[in-house]
Formats: sequence, structure tokens, C-alpha cells
Amino acid sequence: MSAENKFNSLLPVLLGVMGDPIAHSKSPVMHNAALQAAGINGMYMPLHVKPDQLQAAVRGIVALGYRGVNVTIPHKEQVMQYIDVIDESARLIGAVNTIVNDNGTLTGYNTDGMGYVRSLKEEAVPHIEGKRIAVLGAGGAARGVIYALAQEKPERINILNRTADRATALAADLRGHGLGEIGGSGMENAQAVLAEADIVINTTAAGMHPHVGEVPVDPTWIREGAAVSDLIYNPLETRLLQESRMRGCVVHGGLGMFIYQGAIAFEHWLGIPAPVDTMRRAVLDSFSNYN
Ligand code: NAP
Repeated sequence: MSAENKFNSLLPVLLGVMGDPIAHSKSPVMHNAALQAAGINGMYMPLHVKPDQLQAAVRGIVALGYRGVNVTIPHKEQVMQYIDVIDESARLIGAVNTIVNDNGTLTGYNTDGMGYVRSLKEEAVPHIEGKRIAVLGAGGAARGVIYALAQEKPERINILNRTADRATALAADLRGHGLGEIGGSGMENAQAVLAEADIVINTTAAGMHPHVGEVPVDPTWIREGAAVSDLIYNPLETRLLQESRMRGCVVHGGLGMFIYQGAIAFEHWLGIPAPVDTMRRAVLDSFSNYN
């Protein structure tokens, strides 16, 4: 189905997000605002899908004529077995967050890492090439972010994690895919690595609501003038970012990653540029309405 056909159709373009739980997802408010701003007759629904119904739900995308869906926790890995074509980004990351339905053929993408990098470049660090990057954490989010960062040709990426084995395993796996100079270690190396890093990225949950007093590392170990980025967007500015800002660092919060992963998904479905400013405003408004 081309974007042109959808614009001409009398039926709305159907989109949604599958997850469990799903009620608190900000994706519907963001994408419905985007559809409206783009003048598209469409709707984006929260779809509460239990794990034992995932396969049936994916078949339902085709049966009901959905143009596509986002996939969120806990289905991002399991959903891959039910999709016809897996894009390289999703295959290497091992998770799908966006499905596109082309006349019954389902293609799975992962827009999280690309969304993160687009946000980092637009909002904080325009040129990543040649930079030394320290990534705190070695979970699913770290994997997607590092995959996308590696495409930008940084000098080196060092992964630091509380559980050292996860960092070394992730680094070895990504190196094995030819993604460049990637090292992994436990936190014992953090002070030395951070003193040299141009960009420090927190992908751990340390500092996320309600644990807003936590920091993943001592912020004084980060060199002044470095860029410090946090994937967390609740709160919008974590304690790590607040303390880094006070020390003269450029800071970058996680909201942009959420917006841009949605913007790239929107572009896959509809073939037109996403109205990013509208999407950001809609999410920020929903935070202030909620609090
Ligand atoms: P995950 O797969 O469960 O991995 C969690 C990682 O955080 C692991 O490396 C874990 O270390 C580390 N960690 C957890 N709590 C910690 C603590 N108190 N101190 C130090 N390290 C800690 O989770 P994920 O899916 O990667 O998500 C991680 C974060 O990214 C979450 O805060 C999430 O909200 C955020 N995120 C944001 C976006 C966005 O759109 N902005 C998208 C995805 C995720 P161990 O290995 O030692 O357990």
C-alpha cells in the first residue's frame, strides 16, 4: 500500500502499539497528533496484547488491514518469529519495535537506535565521527544504541556495566559483526574511561522515576566539556544530567529518542516526513496533564 493510496482512501489508516501493559504508553498521543498535523485520515490505537496472544495479534495486523504497528515490552524479541521479513537493523539488535504491512507482507524494523542517534545529533552532538564514547549499561537499549552509533564511525565505544560479563559479551558480539572498536568491562574501569570520553551515555535505569536520586557513576569522573546523554525521560533531566550541566557539560535527555523512534516509524508507514515538533509538544503536554 503506497502513501498515495492511503491519502486517497475513504478508510482511515490504521496504526497501533502492541504491549503488555500498554495503558500508559505515550505513543498513541504522539502518533495521533502527528496524523492530524500531517492531514492524514488515520488513527493509532493502544493494543493490549498478552504474550499468549501475540501470534494471533500479529496475524490480525493483516486480517484487519492495519498499515503497521509499534511493538513494545515484552514482545520486541518474541514477535520476530511471526514476521515475514526482518530488516538488518532489527536482526543485529535482536528486537523489532516497528512492523510495516505491505499488502500482507510484514516487515520488522528497529527504530530505537536510529531514533536515539538522530536525537543526539539534532539536539547535542552534530558530529559523532572520531569521538570516544562511553556507554553505561549493557541491556537491550544499549545494544540498539551502540549498533546505531557504530554506523557514525566513532573512534571507539567502551561499554561499562555493573555486571561485567554482560558488557564484555555485548562488546564481543558487536565487534564480531564488524561494528568497529568496541570494548566492554565492569565499573572498575569507569573513572579512567570517563576521563577520556567525549560522549557519555547512560542506558541504565539508574536515576529513573521513582529512584531520581540515583546516578550510574560519579558525575565528577566525567571531564568538563564532554557531552552527557541519558536515555531516561522520566524525569526529563536526571540527576546525572543536572550535575553534568553544572560542571559545564552539554546534556541530552531521553525524550528525543522516544520522539525520533516514533518519527522514523511514522516515516516507514506513511512515506512522508514526520511532524517532529508536533509530536514532541503532544508528549510534553500529556506529561503536564498527567502530573
Ligand atoms: P535492560 O535490558 O533491563 O538493561 C538494564 C541495564 O541497566 C543493565 O545493563 C543493568 O545492569 C543496568 N542497571 C539497572 N539498574 C541499575 C542500577 N541501579 N545501577 C546500575 N546499573 C543498573 O533495560 P533496557 O531495555 O536496556 O532499558 C534501560 C533504560 O533505557 C531504561 O531506563 C529505559 O527507560 C531506557 N529506555 C529509554 C528509551 C527511550 O525511548 N528514551 C527506550 C528504551 C529504553 P546489570 O546488567 O548489571 O543488571
